[in-house]
Amino acid sequence: MRFGDFDLLPLSDGTFRLDGGAMFGVVPKPLWEKRAPADERNRIRLGLRPLLVRRRDGGRTLLIDAGIGDKMDAKSVEIFAIDRSRNLDHGLAEAGVGRDQIDIVLASHLHFDHAGGFTRRDAAGRLVPAFPNARYVVRTAEWDDATHPHERNRASYLAENFVPLAEAGVLDLVPGDEAIAPGVRVVRTGGHSMHHQMIVIESDGRTAVFPADLMPTTAHVDEPWIMGYDLYPMETLAFKRTFVREAIDREYLIFFEHDPDIAAGYIREVKGKKIVEPVAV
Ligand SMILES: [Zn+2]
Repeated sequence: MRFGDFDLLPLSDGTFRLDGGAMFGVVPKPLWEKRAPADERNRIRLGLRPLLVRRRDGGRTLLIDAGIGDKMDAKSVEIFAIDRSRNLDHGLAEAGVGRDQIDIVLASHLHFDHAGGFTRRDAAGRLVPAFPNARYVVRTAEWDDATHPHERNRASYLAENFVPLAEAGVLDLVPGDEAIAPGVRVVRTGGHSMHHQMIVIESDGRTAVFPADLMPTTAHVDEPWIMGYDLYPMETLAFKRTFVREAIDREYLIFFEHDPDIAAGYIREVKGKKIVEPVAV
């Protein structure tokens, strides 16, 4: 998709399933299952959509998040119903972009369904960066949390996804809200994890946003639809309230990382209800 000086392309690393109750927090099932039908194990289907960001003038190529990757064991594949029959490699190949052509891999945060694809095993079984020429950009405090997990977030932070990056010397820690490349900056949202960040892309007076787990699917645009996974749900609420208003008023193009069907769209307010108008990508 052409976006000013950029080409923005949502990729897919397949689909997986998470507990519907956990995905919608305090929202009762009779309400959420109309938007996201549950399977016999109460799980709902979710997408995994890293965003490829290319400058049309030939500047650096970025990948925002990298999907769940191929390192999950058989038990996890079963629990999360991970289906990578169509994965990141297919999308990159169709876009004509080799893994060696990614210059920057930018993390919204380090949970396994976002950072799983950051590393892979080589032929000898060693964990190596999955994008051989990339610098990996991670928010400093998110790195500190991921490398010092506690009982509530330990299952989400798998060291194999990010510690090898530091060992390989390809990690760039960024302390605050700043520009990562021309027209691309990060903004802390907090909420989901203390230092979860969204990515803002600006060109020609227009704004595109990759809010990651602030609004994982189009069903999460409504303020109280907040994940049970969020460590600080009131922070999610406060940020989302302001952000969604701004996104409607200024017509931000929003990318939905975990929506199974809609990769991108504009949030509109119709008769007091917030809806997402999908955009073809
Ligand atoms: Zn997450």
